[in-house]
This record gives sequence, structure tokens and C-alpha cells, in this order.
Amino acid sequence: MDDSECFTAYCELCRKLNVFFGKYIAAYCRNCQQVLRRLPGGECYKLTAGVFPGCCHRGAGDIFRLEGVESGSKLSDGITALLQKARNDRMKTMEAFEPLYELENCRTGERLVGEHCRYFGTCGCCLDELKGPLCINFICPPIRDDLLEAAGDDGWIVGPEHDFLGIYQLLSLLGTVSKIRWQQEAAAFDSRLSKLDKACERFVAGRRQKSLYDCFCLAA
Ligand code: SF4
Ligand code: SF4
Repeated sequence: MDDSECFTAYCELCRKLNVFFGKYIAAYCRNCQQVLRRLPGGECYKLTAGVFPGCCHRGAGDIFRLEGVESGSKLSDGITALLQKARNDRMKTMEAFEPLYELENCRTGERLVGEHCRYFGTCGCCLDELKGPLCINFICPPIRDDLLEAAGDDGWIVGPEHDFLGIYQLLSLLGTVSKIRWQQEAAAFDSRLSKLDKACERFVAGRRQKSLYDCFCLAA
């Protein structure tokens, strides 16, 4: 596969994951502060300035490493170059806004200042299918726990902690295997994603809730 084909395949994968994230994960991220309080020692923070971007911190969108695949492994240079070019075009239409935010620890009063990712806009991420590998892979531990429970503790479907759905493993093949092999791997991934999607759908319906977030964070 040439760089252009690999780039197209990458964007296709992003689109599929965006649909899944929109359906099951976005509600968590919109309520990130509450979700993080589920972590051991999780603290309560109050937003005192700006917009809290959840995981979308400065630099996060420009990380192209494929964690846990092999040391130093990253998305191929060819895909990254095409991704950056397409992002530059997308950014021209993006409305910039104040990148800094400030949080106050409810218990100690300590103030923390952070800065959001440069692709984080007034309506959230502006990259859609041009997100980086970290952005289509990362789920925090509370979300992973909930997905695992929804999937009947099937760790194979959800994937290991550092590689949700085996996305990094899959991406490590892009540009290194034949087109036929890639199509086979992508089809296997689609089936895995579909299994998780259906498991979540069944779980939410069984609990008579509207979303996974409602099941675990509101109805609990
Ligand atoms: S993945 Fe977890 S930590 Fe990241 S924004 Fe979503 S809820 Fe917050
Ligand atoms: S590229 Fe988008 S999803 Fe990734 S960190 Fe930036 S704003 Fe968030």
C-alpha cells in the first residue's frame, strides 16, 4: 500500500472509532471531572477559568507513538506527513480561543493551570478523522472498567490497558503489510468493534438506561 492508501485507511479507522466514541464515550468525557473522581484518591476540582478539555492537553494531538508495539514504534512517516498536511488545511477554518484553564482543588484550594491541545476548539476536537493514534485509543481506567463489565469481562474484546481494542497493534501493520493482509486485519477489527458495540447496546438496554455513562455514573 502506498502512503495515500495508508492515509485513507487510517482516516477510515478514525471515522469508525469516532462513531463508537460518540455513542459510548463522549458522555464520560463531557463529565470528565466526575469520572476522574472514581479513580483511587480522585480529588474534586472546580473550574475557575477557561474550558476544561479533559484529556485534550497541549501536545496530546501530536503524539504519533504506538505504545507497547515495539520500542520507538510510531505511525509511519508517510501517513504522518499526509495527516499534518490535511490538519493544516483544517486548522485554517478553526476558530481560536483562549487555551488556558484553571482548576481549584475543592479540598486544599490549590490552583492548577493547564493548556488545551491546539486542535481543541469551541466545539471540542476539530480534527474528526484526522485525530492522532493516542486520541482514538485512549480511554481512562473508569471507562475501561465499564466497557469490560458491559462486555461480560471479555478482556480480549476491550483489549489491554495500554491498547484499547488493539488499535496500536492494528496501526503498526499499516504500511508494513500487503493490501490483502491489511483488509483482513481491518475486517477482523471491524468485527471486534461491532461485538463491543453490540455488547454495550445490550447492556444499556438491559439496564433501561439511555447510555453507558448513565448506567455507571448516574444510576449507580
Ligand atoms: S477519557 Fe476519561 S480522563 Fe479522558 S476526557 Fe474522557 S473521561 Fe476524562
Ligand atoms: S487532537 Fe482532538 S482528540 Fe486529540 S487531543 Fe487534540 S483536541 Fe483532543
